[in-house]
Amino acid sequence: MELEKLICSYRATIRETMVCIESNFKGIAFLSDDSCRLVGVMTDGDIRRLLINGCGMNDSVQKYMRREFVYATVNDDSKDIAKKFDSGIKIIPIVDETMKLVNYAEYNKNMHIALAQPHLTGNEYKYLIDAFLSTWISSTGKYVTQFEENFSKYCRAKYGVAVSNGTTALHLALTALGIGEGDEVIVPDITFAATINAVIYTGATPVIVDIEEDSWCIDPNEVEKALTLRTKAIIPVHIYGQPCDMGRICDIAKNNNLYVVEDCAEAHGAEWDGKKVGSFGTISCFSFFGNKVITTGEGGMCVTDSRELNDKMRILRDHGMSKERKYYHEAVGFNYRITNLQSAVGVAQIERIEDILEWRSKLEEKYRKAFLGREDIIIQRNDLPGRKKITWLVSILVEEGKRDRVLEQLKENGIDARSFFIPLSEMDIYKMYAKDCKKSKKISRMGINLPTTYEVSEKDVSNIVSLIESV
Ligand SMILES: *Cc1c(COP(=O)(O)O)cnc(C)c1O
Repeated sequence: MELEKLICSYRATIRETMVCIESNFKGIAFLSDDSCRLVGVMTDGDIRRLLINGCGMNDSVQKYMRREFVYATVNDDSKDIAKKFDSGIKIIPIVDETMKLVNYAEYNKNMHIALAQPHLTGNEYKYLIDAFLSTWISSTGKYVTQFEENFSKYCRAKYGVAVSNGTTALHLALTALGIGEGDEVIVPDITFAATINAVIYTGATPVIVDIEEDSWCIDPNEVEKALTLRTKAIIPVHIYGQPCDMGRICDIAKNNNLYVVEDCAEAHGAEWDGKKVGSFGTISCFSFFGNKVITTGEGGMCVTDSRELNDKMRILRDHGMSKERKYYHEAVGFNYRITNLQSAVGVAQIERIEDILEWRSKLEEKYRKAFLGREDIIIQRNDLPGRKKITWLVSILVEEGKRDRVLEQLKENGIDARSFFIPLSEMDIYKMYAKDCKKSKKISRMGINLPTTYEVSEKDVSNIVSLIESV
């Protein structure tokens, strides 16, 4: 929510103040003078009591506003602010040295710093309510089409097929490509399990290969070594926002007649060689889960330049039902549809993706600066030739034996951080598919994802960094 929605002039009437409170849903208005300095606050409860006591709707709020109130300053960190919530207040204005309003803090049960959080401050609510009131709350409706068009355009792909989540996107893509029993599909050892699960669902055999030490992405040399006559596809995963070496991967695919299914679930907007991820794969798959770069709650999309694959995926997404003949099924399909409600949120998110990527990357720069000069803490590379990474979760490597102590230290201080994915090759249910993967094992044991939300302040960054350094 933008701060502006909480601010009302101290010259306003009671009625105007009520309109402000009514539209911000926060139950409070911050009253400011002409230079945006905070001079008072008024809550919806205050107004209710005033009206009961005979105050008029057109009376000036200045006369009745609370001139004494709890506030925080830009120099307070999240611990200082947490203390101020002890009095039971739910929302606290944040001001600079001159009492100018710069932000606000909202009470959160555990007062901790979250790893990830959706950022829904644009038209998300408006479009969602619009979709809801239209009664088109299921999988038909204008927002589904709009979301598909706008997102595929953003990826510079011709077609987009929106689905229920990122995992179904991967499964739908592989199925549409005809991948199944007897085929092999190459995947990286470091990824979220959905990548390999989607391969297994099709009946094909996954082949797990090692990653590159600098990018943490699938190593094209290992892909080459793993090729057999049965290899049908490669799934490069742009891990933690870092694009894979799509030049090498597309060459290998071309020379060996393979499909490329990009797993872009963590890298919306990243670029290889000046081109957006999602524009390289035969089909490319995205996730819009709540912690991803942009979100629809749950959701996913397959993008492609192939009209034929687009048509095929649409049919498979909808129970394999013929487009021409209702209830005639051409294939054993799925119900992988997304809803109009989810898509409404998606349309608003894609409107703001550049802003979202910008605050994410600025936050990463703050961390990067804070770690500067420390050789025992390595932040994810942003200087690899050809690659323009985006920030999903800020990711660092610490000394091998110290990772778990760092995580413990952060947890004790209310900071939500996370270890890297466990390599697929280290899990009983997948290890029979794995080639020799040394680098992934090492990187995984050192890796930590740090809080990457809009709320993480400069002061929070320096606190987090000090806590890590203390270990
Ligand atoms: C999140 C994620 C997925 C799965 O997406 P869901 O929407 O959660 O099903 C797939 N691959 C990777 C690399 C992911 O991070």
